[in-house]
Amino acid sequence: MLLSFEQALATVKEKLGEANLNPATEMLPLDQIGGRVLAEDVLADRDYPPFNRSIRDGFAVRSADVSGAPVTLECLGEVRAGECSPSAVGLGECVEIMTGAPLPTGADAVVMIEHVRVQGSRVGISRAVAPHENVVRRATEATEESVVLPRGRRVGTGEAGLLASVGRTLVKVFPRPRVAILPTGDEVVPFDQLPGPFQIRNSNAVTLAAQVVAAGGVPWQLGIAPDEKKVLLSLVEKGLESDLLLLSGGVSMGKYDFVGQVLRELGGEFFIQGVAIRPGKPLVFGRVREKFFFGLPGNPVSTFVTFELFVRPAMAMLGGAQFESPIFLRACLGRPHRQKLGLTAFMPARVEVQNGEPVVNLVGWQGSGDLVGVAAANCFLVIHPQQTDLAAGDWVDVMPKEQGQVTSAK
Ligand code: AMP
Ligand code: MG
Repeated sequence: MLLSFEQALATVKEKLGEANLNPATEMLPLDQIGGRVLAEDVLADRDYPPFNRSIRDGFAVRSADVSGAPVTLECLGEVRAGECSPSAVGLGECVEIMTGAPLPTGADAVVMIEHVRVQGSRVGISRAVAPHENVVRRATEATEESVVLPRGRRVGTGEAGLLASVGRTLVKVFPRPRVAILPTGDEVVPFDQLPGPFQIRNSNAVTLAAQVVAAGGVPWQLGIAPDEKKVLLSLVEKGLESDLLLLSGGVSMGKYDFVGQVLRELGGEFFIQGVAIRPGKPLVFGRVREKFFFGLPGNPVSTFVTFELFVRPAMAMLGGAQFESPIFLRACLGRPHRQKLGLTAFMPARVEVQNGEPVVNLVGWQGSGDLVGVAAANCFLVIHPQQTDLAAGDWVDVMPKEQGQVTSAK
């Protein structure tokens, strides 16, 4: 039975959620955890900021003193970043302050240097400031012992910086899931080999390996399976030593499409057998011998799209992360588009900014085998089943072509 795109995604989430995935954990130094998933909550080691921090160069004042600006205040001295002011600010007084320095006792705001005139120890203030203006108050970002990064969060660039700022040099993380890649097809030859006139280079294995790495996994190439049951079966069995098995090709209705049969003979359970999407309709997803597998349709664009839609979220959960749905952004449709099918379509497109608005247009392509079309695209235009008649200017969904952060596998 054909599932809708949403039903299929919910199925992946549900099945992985039910599985008792218990990946081991390891402690890794900060410079090795890019793209890894945290296996522990990370707590603030102290308040953030640890003191009332000035975010401007200027003069620390009592806001009540400058409410009637212009006014003149008496300057008591200065406070630099990393220091603390020896003097408290009293009525009619101020202290010169640098960005990053702690606010002196008595002061509650900072007047920017641009709004003062200094004459000896007298400081003319031309503008009033509200209480706490140009100050980030102690503990407003995080209080000591509060969770700043939850278990299950993937460490990207910003997260790595946060780990450093809370002093975590060693962090508990989950291992990268190992993902076996098994392309099938009698016509498919290794990509570094000269193909015969009717043979095709194995591009899917290269695309999939790059996607696996980008999704935080370690690819494991199993070679190419012919459309022959016995060899296919033994390669599938080998692939089940990994955390996840990805097959490409051989999942349609053809006479030599043996992937489904082989998985069934091994006792596989099928949760998805066909999704109402284009490209990628014959997708299968299931479990065999406690391992999940995806049978991705062999057409290169189908393989690419179905990975982004379903395998990437599954890999996130296998790797200990929260479920990561594909993210659709919105853009304005450039040229009108009609579609008859009751499918969710993912069409190679380019989004470009025109007059300050993101405008999306389809690129020319010849269907799901056309990698040249995908290379010209920077996104996929997502057309939902009910959107049969789209006019120029309609807001539509687009899925960025590169979704995840690119990380390097070990
Ligand atoms: P299939 O899903 O096996 O029916 O294959 C669909 C189309 O994708 C066929 O035209 C295949 O030649 C092509 N194809 C299958 N596997 C690969 C691969 N690994 N690399 C590039 N093209 C492929
Ligand atoms: Mg085939």
